[in-house]
Amino acid sequence: MSKRVYLFTEGNAGMRNLLGGKGAGLAEMTKIGLPIPNGFTISTEACTDYYEENKTISEDTQRQIYEAMSWLEERQGKKFGDTEDPLLVSVRSGARASMPGMMDTILNLGLNDVSVEGFARKTGNPRFAYDSYRRFIQMFSDVVMGMSKTFFDSILDGTRRAKGYVYDYELTAEDLKDIISRFKAVYAEKMGQEFPQDPREQLMAAIQAVFRSWDNPRANSYRRMYDIPYSWGTAVNVQAMVFGNKGDTSGTGVAFTRSPSTGAKGIFGEYLINAQGEDVVAGIRTPQPITKLQEDMPEVYKQFIDSAKILENHYRDMQDMEFTIEEGKLYFLQTRNGKRTAQAALQIACDLVDENMITPEEAVLRIEAQSLDQLLHPNFDVQALKNGRVIGQALPASPGAAAGRVYFDADDAIAARTEGQRVILVRQETSPEDIEGMHAAEGVLTMRGGMTSHAAVVARGMGTCCVSGCGDMTVNEAEKYFELGGVTVREGDYISLDGSTGKIYLGDIPTVEASITGNFERIMKWADSFRRLRVRTNADTPADAENAVNLGAEGIGLCRTEHMFFAPERIPKIRRMILSDTTEEREAALNELIPYQKGDFKGIYKAMQGMPVTIRFLDPPLHEFVPTTEEDMRELADDMNLTLADVRARCDALHEFNPMMGHRGCRLSVTYPEIARMQTRAVIEAAIEVNAECGYHIEPEIMVPLVGDKKELDVVKKVIDSTAEQVKAEKGSDLVYHVGTMIEIPRAALMADSIAESAEFFSFGTNDLTQMTFGFSRDDAGKFLQDYYKSKIYEADPFAHLDQNGVGQLIEMAAAKAKKVRPDIHMGICGEHGGDPASIEFCNRAGLSYVSCSPFRVPIARLAAAQAEIKLRREAKES
Ligand code: ADP
Ligand code: MG
Ligand code: MG
Repeated sequence: MSKRVYLFTEGNAGMRNLLGGKGAGLAEMTKIGLPIPNGFTISTEACTDYYEENKTISEDTQRQIYEAMSWLEERQGKKFGDTEDPLLVSVRSGARASMPGMMDTILNLGLNDVSVEGFARKTGNPRFAYDSYRRFIQMFSDVVMGMSKTFFDSILDGTRRAKGYVYDYELTAEDLKDIISRFKAVYAEKMGQEFPQDPREQLMAAIQAVFRSWDNPRANSYRRMYDIPYSWGTAVNVQAMVFGNKGDTSGTGVAFTRSPSTGAKGIFGEYLINAQGEDVVAGIRTPQPITKLQEDMPEVYKQFIDSAKILENHYRDMQDMEFTIEEGKLYFLQTRNGKRTAQAALQIACDLVDENMITPEEAVLRIEAQSLDQLLHPNFDVQALKNGRVIGQALPASPGAAAGRVYFDADDAIAARTEGQRVILVRQETSPEDIEGMHAAEGVLTMRGGMTSHAAVVARGMGTCCVSGCGDMTVNEAEKYFELGGVTVREGDYISLDGSTGKIYLGDIPTVEASITGNFERIMKWADSFRRLRVRTNADTPADAENAVNLGAEGIGLCRTEHMFFAPERIPKIRRMILSDTTEEREAALNELIPYQKGDFKGIYKAMQGMPVTIRFLDPPLHEFVPTTEEDMRELADDMNLTLADVRARCDALHEFNPMMGHRGCRLSVTYPEIARMQTRAVIEAAIEVNAECGYHIEPEIMVPLVGDKKELDVVKKVIDSTAEQVKAEKGSDLVYHVGTMIEIPRAALMADSIAESAEFFSFGTNDLTQMTFGFSRDDAGKFLQDYYKSKIYEADPFAHLDQNGVGQLIEMAAAKAKKVRPDIHMGICGEHGGDPASIEFCNRAGLSYVSCSPFRVPIARLAAAQAEIKLRREAKES
C-alpha cells in the first residue's frame, strides 16, 4: 500500500509536487495557525494512478479516502450523509503549477433530498439550505456529468424574471425549493437517471471528475502555453465547507497583498456579502472593494489584514488569497503567489529587495523571463483600447501593438511609409519578397499561416507586431480590400492590431513606447551580474543591431546576408548573377554588389561599437531570388540581353523538389566560389576600414552554413582564406578574422570532432537542426502538430522549445566532441530557441558560450541566462 491521502495537518509548503499548489498552501496555512476549514489532499500520484489504471480510483486509495473522511467527521463533529446535521465538503482541484480557472471545483457536496431538510432545521435557515443544495446540483451536473450550464441558468433566469428579482439572493426558500425540483427534473431527463442521493457516490464521482479535468482541452492548451508537463497530474482537496451564503454577516472574496497589475503596495481585492464560491468572479452582482469591509465588519477586516501580512511575510511574495466569512468568522480557503503583469512583477521584486525580504538573486529568479515580452513592444493605451471595436481575432504571432493604414502590397506599404504614414500590411500570406514591406509596417496581418509561418518568424525577428492565420477574413489583394466581422476595410483605412492577444480593431488606437528604465533596468543589472552565458543578437541591419545594443546585446551571433539583397536597387544584380552562364558574368554581377555588402557590414560593425559580429554567408536556395512576375522577367531579360523565354527557362531550371534540402548553404559556395570570394572581400574590407575609422579591434567571424563534412568546409575555407589574405595584403592590414560553421544538419553533429579541426567556432542552427532531425519542415508542421498535441505525442512545438531529449543530444554530443579536438572552441546557438528560456537553460548546462536571439528577446535571454546559472550553482552546492 502506498500513501495517497494526506491530511492538511500532515503536509507543508515543501510538498507542492505531491499535494499540488492548493493542497500545499492549505497545509502550510494550517501549520502557521491561520483559520482553515479542516480537510485532506488526495495526491498527484493518485491522479497518475488513475490514468495508469484505466481511469479508475484504486480500492486502496478509496479506502484511504474514507479513512480521512472519518477523521474529518470526528474533527467537525458531524457525519457525512447524516440526515439531521450533515457534514458538507468541497472537492477542489489543485495542480503543482496554478492553472486558474482551468479545472473544476464542487461545493456543498453531501446534500441530498433528505439531509437538506435536516440542514434547514439545524441551521434554522431554510433559504440558505436550499440555496446550498441548488448550487450543489448545478456544479455537480456541470463538472461531474458535463451537462451544459444553460439548462440551469435558464431555470434560474426564468424564476428571477417571473418574480421580478434582480439578484439571486432575493430568491426565497420556497422559490429555491421549486428551482431544486425543476433542476432535478432536467437532470433526470438529460441523464436518464435520478440525481445521485448517496453522498459516498457523489464524493467518488466528484474526485474522478477532478482527475478527469486534468485532461480537458482547456487544461491541455493552457499547459502547452505555459510549458506544464502533462505527466504532473493534479491533486484533489476535500475540505469541510464554510458558508458565505448564510446571510448579511457572511460573504466571500478574493484579495492580493499588492496590486497584481502595477505592483503597488497595499491590499487589493473584492468581496460579496451573502455569496458563495465563484460568485465574486462570475456573478451579476458587482463586488465591493475590500476596503469597504472595514466599515461592514471592522473586526474581521483587521484580522484579515493581519493574516494577509503574515502570509506575505511567510511566503516572502505577493499573495493571492481566497476567503470566506461565515456569520462573522473569517476563514482562509487558498493562498498562492499571485499572478501578475510583468510591470507588477518588476515592481514587487524590487520592493521586496528594498524591504529586505528577498535578495537580488531571488528577485532575479522571481521574474518570469517570458513575461518581459509584454514590456518590450509598444503597447496600446489601456483606456483607448477599452473603447476600441474588435472586428476579429487570430493568432498572436508577434507581440506588440500596432495601428496604421491598411496596405495590401509590400511596395504600396513602403511608399506610404516613405510619405510618413504608419502602415499595416495585410496579406493572404507573406513571402520573403515582402520583407521590406514588413519592415516598413507597424504591424502585419495575414489570412493564412501559423505561429511559425514566415510572417510570424520574420515579424518576431523584427519586433514587428503580427497577427496571423485569420481564417475569418477574406482578402482581395487585387482590389485592395478585406472583409472581417461584417466590415469592409479598404486601402488607406485605419486598423489596429494587438499582437499579444491576436485581436484586430477598427480604427487608430494610440500606443505608448517601451524602454528599459527604472525597475526593469535594476533587475537587468542584477541579472547581468549572475549570468555566465553571453547574449548576442540575430540582426541583419544596422537599425536592428542598434536596437539590440540598446536592449543589452553583446554581439551579433547571426547576421544573415541574404536579406541584404532584396532592396530594389540590388535585386536585379543578384538576379543577373544567378542567371549568368559563365563565371566571368557572375563575377561581374557580384562585383557590383560588393560596395553594397561592404556598406551594410560597415553599418553593422559601427552599430555594434566594436563588439563581435558573426556573419553567415549566403544560405537560401537561389530560386528565392528569381523574378516571378512577367514584368520582372522582362526587365531582367532586357538587362541581360536575353529573351523572355531564356529567362523563364533559366528560372525554371532552378526548380528543386525539396529546396530546403537542396542547393543551398555552403553548397552554393562549392559550386560558385565567386560568391564566397565576394562576401569575404566585403566582410574583410569593411572590418579593416571600420577598425581604422573608429579605433575598434573587430575580429570578424565568418560562418559557413549547412556544413556536413570537414572537407566541404575546407573547400570553402580555402576560398575565404585566400581572398582574405589577398585583401589584407592589398590594404597592408594584419586583421585577425575567424572562420567557423553552423551545426545544423545531423551529420555535422555526428562529425563534430573532425569538423572542429577546421572550424574555430560552432553556432548551433537549431531551426534547421530541428527540422532535419525530426524530418519535417517548420513551414508545414502547422498542419499536423495540433493532432500530435491531441494524441499526446508532443507536448510542445519543437521549433519554439528545443527538443532537449533528441536534438539536445546532438548538441551535447557535438559540443563534447568539438571540445576534445579544440578545447577553447567558441560555441553558441542561434535561431528561435536562442530566445526561449527553457532552451537557454539547456544551453547553459551544455556549456555553450553564448545564445543569440532576435533583438526584442535580448532582455528575456539575459534574465533567463541568469536564472539558469543561479539554478545550476544552487544544484552544485546541494550535491
Ligand atoms: P479555483 O482553483 O478555480 O479557484 P477553488 O478550489 O479555489 O477553485 O474553489 C473556488 C471557490 O470555491 C473558492 O474561492 C471558495 O470561495 C469556494 N470554496 C472552495 N472550498 C470551499 C469550502 N470548503 N468552503 C467554502 N467555500 C469554498
Ligand atoms: Mg481558488
Ligand atoms: Mg539554417
